[in-house]
Amino acid sequence: MVAIKQQLVASRSLTSGVGNPCNYITIHETANTNKGANAQSHANLQSKGNSRLASWHYQVDDKEIIQSFLDNVRCLHAGDGRGKGNMESIGIEICVNSDGNFKNAVKNAAELVKYLMKKHDIGISHVVQHSRWSGKDCPHNLRDGSKGINWNDFIGLVKGTAGVHVPSQEVGSAVITKPSSKTIDQLADEVIAGKHGSGAQRKQSLGSQYEAVQKRVNEKLLGSQPKPKPATKSIDQLVKETLAGKHGNGEARKKSLGSNYQAVMNVINGKASAPKKAASKPKGNMKTNSIVDYLKSIKVDSSFTNRKKLAAKHGIKNYSGTSSQNAQLLKKMRG
Ligand SMILES: [Zn+2]
Repeated sequence: MVAIKQQLVASRSLTSGVGNPCNYITIHETANTNKGANAQSHANLQSKGNSRLASWHYQVDDKEIIQSFLDNVRCLHAGDGRGKGNMESIGIEICVNSDGNFKNAVKNAAELVKYLMKKHDIGISHVVQHSRWSGKDCPHNLRDGSKGINWNDFIGLVKGTAGVHVPSQEVGSAVITKPSSKTIDQLADEVIAGKHGSGAQRKQSLGSQYEAVQKRVNEKLLGSQPKPKPATKSIDQLVKETLAGKHGNGEARKKSLGSNYQAVMNVINGKASAPKKAASKPKGNMKTNSIVDYLKSIKVDSSFTNRKKLAAKHGIKNYSGTSSQNAQLLKKMRG
C-alpha cells in the first residue's frame, strides 16, 4: 500500500486550466533512465516550472506516488492538442530510472489507476496508453515488455486487488480549483519570452486563451494598439462607390475592392444573379475547318444570315461567305 503524496504545482500556466471530466487515464513512462530520475525529481521538475511545455497529474516510482495537479486540471501530456488525451484524461508517468525497480513502479501505478478508476467511475477500457492519443511509443517498456512486464500484465494488475491510501488533502477544498490568475498581458509577455514555444505547442500551452494572447502578442510585437476593424460595407455600398469613381479603374479598382471585387463587378455588369461560369463557352468541334460544322457543334444557327450577324459582331465587314471570311470567323468564334 502506497500513500499518495501531494506536491501540488501552484501555477497552471503549463496546463489548459481546470475542467477535466476525468473520462480516461493515460499511462506514460518518463523515458529518463538516469539515476535519481524518480518520482520526487519529476515532481520537483514540475514544481519548479517545467522548461518543456508539459504537465501531468501523477508520477510514480518503485517507492512512491506523487501528485502534482489535481485530477480536474487539464494537463498537457498526451500530445493531442485539445483532444481527449489532454482535455479528458488523467496523466500518470511511470519512472524508469535505472536505480529503481521498474516492476514495482508499475505495480504502484496499477494501484493508483485502480484508485482513480473507482474515484471517477472510469472503466478499464478507458485506461489507455499515451500511444492511443498521439501514436508516440509510450509507455515504451510496457509496450514491448522488455523489462519483464508488459501492458497486459499491467492491466491484469489493475484488475487485481490492491489498495492505496487516499490523501487527506484531496478531501479538503483549500487546494482545489484556483484558476490561473495570469492576465492576457502577462501571458503575452511570457510568449514573447519564449515560455510557451511556438506553433501547435503554443496553442496547446495557452489552451482557450490562445487567440486572445496571440492577438496581444502581435500587438506588442508590432508596437501598435489594436487596430479598429475596417467597417464592413455591403456590396451595394461598394457598387455605389465604385460607380461614383471612388475605387478607380482596372488594377486600382481590384486592389481597392479586394475580395469584394468580383461581387461588385458582377453587380455593375448586371451579372449578379447569373451563376458565375467562367470559360463555360461550349468548346465544340475544335478540329473542323468548316465554320458551319463548328457552329453546328456548338448548337448555333449556321445559316448565312446568322453567320453574317456573327461576322459583324466580330468585326468582319461585308461578310459574303468567302472562305477567308469563314476562316476568320471560325478563329474568332473559337476565341
Ligand atoms: Zn508519454
